[in-house]
Amino acid sequence: MKDADCLFCKIIDCEVPSEKVFEDAQVYAFKDINPKAKVHVLVVPRDHYRNVDALAQADPALLAHMVEVAQGIADDAYNGSYRLIFNTGEDAGQTVFHVHAHVLTGEPMEE
Ligand code: 5GP
Repeated sequence: MKDADCLFCKIIDCEVPSEKVFEDAQVYAFKDINPKAKVHVLVVPRDHYRNVDALAQADPALLAHMVEVAQGIADDAYNGSYRLIFNTGEDAGQTVFHVHAHVLTGEPMEE
């Protein structure tokens, strides 16, 4: 399931360059172009889902895998602590409508 007009589908397919952090058969993880923390990685499923709710309904095991990957990134990059954010909907700040987990880590977080 791909969306030809989706930026993150293009990143997964290497049509748009990115700094890869991790990949496997189900997910791709890359550095956010506008980092909000010392380490700011986006974890995205290879299949296109509009938001986290659509993913949770269609494939909860894949959502759980995204969390597992986020934990691995935080373990590798820092001490295992991280903030995990799914902006959902325009009013919440979602700008790319391919579900993605923001993994913020690498330093102590402010409130
Ligand atoms: P959202 O606002 O939808 O929750 O998050 C989208 C994220 O994608 C933003 O943090 C933004 O900086 C990041 N982003 C947008 N375009 C690109 C891009 O072309 N490359 C990378 N690596 N990140 C991007």
